[in-house]
Amino acid sequence: MSKKNHNSAPWMCGQCKHGFRSQDAVRMHINDAHPTIRNCGIYHRIEQVAGPEYEPSLGERAVDAELALAMGEPTEDAWLLGE
Ligand SMILES: [Zn+2]
Repeated sequence: MSKKNHNSAPWMCGQCKHGFRSQDAVRMHINDAHPTIRNCGIYHRIEQVAGPEYEPSLGERAVDAELALAMGEPTEDAWLLGE
């Protein structure tokens, strides 16, 4: 079971799923790394919880699964989306 570190990167690039500390950092990253992507999404992890014991909630896993499916990546949590 892989543990993702969501704590220090509440903002995420919708293109490569890289995490960033601020929305501006994501915008700068998109301009820099994905200049040809016009409507690259910027995602904000709302359920940000600090602490080493943090586990993603089902809702957060569903968001991750939705992202993975949208990007054509395999996910173990597709059932959360009713698929
Ligand atoms: Zn990116």
